[in-house]
Amino acid sequence: MKILNNIQLKSLNSFNISSYAKYFAEFSSEIDLVALLKHNLLSKEKLFILGGGSNILLTKNIDGLLIKNAIKGIKIIEENDNHLIAEVGAGENWHDFVKWSIKQNVSGIENLALIPGSVGAAPIQNIGAYGMEVKDTVEKVCYIDIQSLEKRTLINSECKFNYRNSIFKNDLKNKIIITKVVFKLNKKHANNYKYGVIEEELNIANQKPTLENIFNTIISIRTKKLPDPKVIGNSGSFFKNPIINNSKFNNLKKKYPDIIGYTSGKNQIKIAAGWLIEKAGWKGYTCGDAGVHKNQALVLVNYENASGKEILDLSKRIQKSILEKFEIIILPEVNII
Ligand SMILES: Cc1cc2nc3c(=O)[nH]c(=O)nc-3n(C[C@H](O)[C@H](O)[C@H](O)COP(=O)(O)OP(=O)(O)OC[C@H]3O[C@@H](n4cnc5c(N)ncnc54)[C@H](O)[C@@H]3O)c2cc1C
Repeated sequence: MKILNNIQLKSLNSFNISSYAKYFAEFSSEIDLVALLKHNLLSKEKLFILGGGSNILLTKNIDGLLIKNAIKGIKIIEENDNHLIAEVGAGENWHDFVKWSIKQNVSGIENLALIPGSVGAAPIQNIGAYGMEVKDTVEKVCYIDIQSLEKRTLINSECKFNYRNSIFKNDLKNKIIITKVVFKLNKKHANNYKYGVIEEELNIANQKPTLENIFNTIISIRTKKLPDPKVIGNSGSFFKNPIINNSKFNNLKKKYPDIIGYTSGKNQIKIAAGWLIEKAGWKGYTCGDAGVHKNQALVLVNYENASGKEILDLSKRIQKSILEKFEIIILPEVNII
């Protein structure tokens, strides 16, 4: 396992931002990871952890040791008539794992197809799309504590999963490295196709809502809808959808009858942040190489050589304008480094 110096990170983050890591290493096993964590470089250098780089905005160079998770492997550890339990290395590509689940004919993550990034990062922000969240299939999350080097496991109820949130984004942030995730996938298919345009697309293609058809439809919808980071740098939704109370929503609805909101718990409505940003006139806006995508107002983009700082400045201007226009605070979903 080599520790490299002064590594360009442009190809390692989906925003395609140019930034350098002072030191960089990749680990492909827990043993390698522990060896890295014991390295004497860390007595003076800070530690940073990278998965697929699809949920970060690099606003500066990494002044320390950046370690990239490459722990691979998918192992079936239990199977019966109802379910299959799989233990998956945190460095596996998320979409590859979803494809694997479809081949095994098990359900629970098919609507999360084509989300970029690693399996290890999936529980961190409880990835979600098209009416599914990863929290509903995660059994356990295994990690190594950076200080004590102890191996620990949290069961689902200990992960404090919430909308784009978990214990890993809060109490355990920067304290642990996820090495494996255990998933319970169902032999009985969820066939969750009533969300967004899935049903419409299935009807157009004259297809039944089977596991495989839903998976393929999600891929087709996402490919049409979202900019491909290989072509235009981005990290998907830049902001989380804000949650407001019913009375505030009803007041906004009087002023903006087309406002988009979904019930989210008792007396709470989740507002589409993309709608707020579009309504405030930002859709398609550009400032140098930084911009707001022309079809998806929730997606900030780097057309070529924008710096992380330029994207961050743009995001702050958007936050300010949303606060002024709607009196709503929108917070980044992306990890700003
Ligand atoms: C085009 C596009 C579409 C997207 N669509 C969605 C979507 O529909 N739904 C959704 O929820 N997200 C979406 N995302 C966001 C992103 O794909 C997910 O958040 C993904 O889980 C990030 O994984 P990653 O491995 O790239 O994480 P990274 O960006 O590498 O890391 C994210 C954070 O997690 C930490 N981290 C990473 N791995 C570990 C580990 N093993 N242990 C401890 N900490 C770790 C990092 O330090 C960082 O703080 C999208 C992104 C893009 C670019």
